[in-house]
Amino acid sequence: MTKEDVLEAVKERDVKFIRTQFTDTLGIIKSWAIPVEQLEEAFESGVMFDGSSIQGFTKIEESDMKLVLDPSTFRILPWRPTTGAVARILGDVYLPNGQPFEGDPRYVLKSAIEEAKKMGYSMNVGPELEFFLFKLDANGNPTTELTDHGGYFDFSPLDRAQDVRRDIDYTLESMGFQIEASHHEVAPSQHEIDFRFGDVLSTADNVITFKYVVKSIAYHKGYYATFMPKPLFGVNGSGMHTNQSLFKGDNNVFYDPEGEDQLSQEAMYYIGGLLKHIKEFAAVTNPVVNSYKRIVPGYEAPVYLTWSAKNRSSLIRIPATRGNGTRVELRCPDPSCNPYLAFALMLRAGLDGIKNKIDPGEPTNTNIFHLTEKEREEKGIRSLPADLKGAIDEMKGSKFVKEVLGEHVFSHYLCAKEMEWDEYKANVHPWELEKYLHML
Ligand code: GLN
Ligand code: MG
Ligand code: MG
Ligand code: MG
Repeated sequence: MTKEDVLEAVKERDVKFIRTQFTDTLGIIKSWAIPVEQLEEAFESGVMFDGSSIQGFTKIEESDMKLVLDPSTFRILPWRPTTGAVARILGDVYLPNGQPFEGDPRYVLKSAIEEAKKMGYSMNVGPELEFFLFKLDANGNPTTELTDHGGYFDFSPLDRAQDVRRDIDYTLESMGFQIEASHHEVAPSQHEIDFRFGDVLSTADNVITFKYVVKSIAYHKGYYATFMPKPLFGVNGSGMHTNQSLFKGDNNVFYDPEGEDQLSQEAMYYIGGLLKHIKEFAAVTNPVVNSYKRIVPGYEAPVYLTWSAKNRSSLIRIPATRGNGTRVELRCPDPSCNPYLAFALMLRAGLDGIKNKIDPGEPTNTNIFHLTEKEREEKGIRSLPADLKGAIDEMKGSKFVKEVLGEHVFSHYLCAKEMEWDEYKANVHPWELEKYLHML
C-alpha cells in the first residue's frame, strides 16, 4: 500500500483515528492516536514525539524524535466501530537531524536485511506463536484459571475458548493475514495460530500485530491471552518456533536436489552460524526470567544445541518440505521476544555461518533427552543458558551481538535485563515459602 492508497482507504472506510505505533527495545508497542485529518501532514513530515520516557530510547536532552509512517503497515482494527473506524500504522524512528535512530528495533532489522542484500540474499520467516487463554476475574484482571482441558489438536464444538480462537482467526484474516494452521496446543488452555511466512520485515511487523490482535479479541470476549513463555508449572510452555530460509531472487538457496537430504551447503553453514551464536543471543530470543522455565527437559522445548532433520528435541529442526519450502526451524525463541531484534540476530548469525563456512557438525538423530549427562559430554553437546543471568553474561561478552544490535541497543538492552535479573534475584518467591517455611 502506498501513501495515496492509505489516504483513499481512510475515506472509504470512514476511519476517524490512526494509532501510530513502534516498539521499544523490549518489543512493547508504543502507540498514540492522531485524528485522521492530520494523517496527510503526518505522512509528509512525520509525527514528533518525546523519546525520553521510552524504554531503551534516549536521554532527556535529546528527547525530540520523529516517527516516519510506513504506509505498507496500514491496517484497520476490525474490533473497533465500523463507522468512525480506527486504523494503525507502524513507523520508523528518526532523530530531529533526519538520521534514523539507531535505538529503533526496526532499524536494527533493516540493517541486517541490508547486510543480507549485499550478499545477494533476502530472508523469509514463518513464526509459530503459541499462547494461553485464561479467565479474567470479576474486576477484569488476568488469572491463570483454565478455560478448557483440551490437548493437542483437540476439537470440541461446544468449547467457548475455541470460539474465541476462531474469532481471532477471522479477525486476522480480515486484516490480511493468511492463516495456515490454528489449533489447540498440548497444554490445557494453550493454542497455536500460524500465519503464512513472508519477508522478514513484514513478518516482524506481523508478529507485533498478531499479539495485539490476539490479546484484543480475547479481552473483548472476556478472556485473557498471554504470550508469557511458561505461565503454568508442569505443562508445556509457549514457544515461537521460527522457520527461516534465504532466497536469491525466486530461488530458495537452502534447497539443493543433489545435496545430502536435499539440503544445500549454504543451509548447512547457516545452521552452523545459528548454533555458534545462539547462546550469545538467547537473552534476546528468550528475554525474560520466565523464558528459562520453559526450556527445560520434558516439555517439547529445546535445551541442547543440536540440529536434526528428524528429531523435535533438537534446537534446530529441518521440516520435511523441500523445494521452495525448504527451511530451518529454530525452536528456542519464545513469543515474549522483540521480533525485530530476534530476527536480525538469527539472520546475521546465519550469514556469519555462510561467510565463515561454519560447519554445524553431524546431526543428532536420537532423542537427546534420553542421553545421560556423561553421554552428552562425550558427544560434546552444549546447552542453552540455564537462566536469564547466564544469557546476559553470554551476551555481554559477545562482539557479534554488539555489532548486530549496535552499541545503543546493546547497552540499553543489557542494562534493562540486568535490572530485571537483580529484581528477581532479590525477591522472595512463593515457591521458597512453600518449600522452606514449614521446615526451617
Ligand atoms: N510448546 C512447545 C514449546 O515450548 C512446542 C510444542 C509443539 O509445537 N510441538 O516449544
Ligand atoms: Mg507448530
Ligand atoms: Mg506448537
Ligand atoms: Mg514447529
